Amino acid sequence: MNEKTLFQKIADGEIPSDLVYEDDHCIAFRDINPVAPTHMLVVPRKPITRPDLIEEDDETLVGHLFTVARQVASQEGLSDYRLVMNNGAEAGQSVFHIHLHLLGGRPMTWPPG
Ligand code: 5GP
Repeated sequence: MNEKTLFQKIADGEIPSDLVYEDDHCIAFRDINPVAPTHMLVVPRKPITRPDLIEEDDETLVGHLFTVARQVASQEGLSDYRLVMNNGAEAGQSVFHIHLHLLGGRPMTWPPG
């Protein structure tokens, strides 16, 4: 059996986190190293390695991450925010279990660095 990813361990409660949302399909928790006043990660329980390995069967699940991100943003009182999913190390991915970053609470610039 493959070793659990960091985010599976968080989802299973083996590593503590500041959880803000959970259901049967995903969890949301505060990033340990926030880069904005609000920085959450919305993570499916299913350990998909990177966005380009999302399959057709995952489309409902991935759409659900956006619905949860909207709910969490609303809980935080955010109307404007950024959602980011990094694909691969050069794009900034460091944890190889897909996750949607929810960033808000400060003005954002574009393009990102
Ligand atoms: P990535 O770089 O893969 O797009 O994003 C991974 C994110 O996970 C980073 O923003 C990083 O700060 C966050 N992170 C890494 N380890 C932990 C942890 O143990 N707990 C929490 N809450 N966040 C983590």
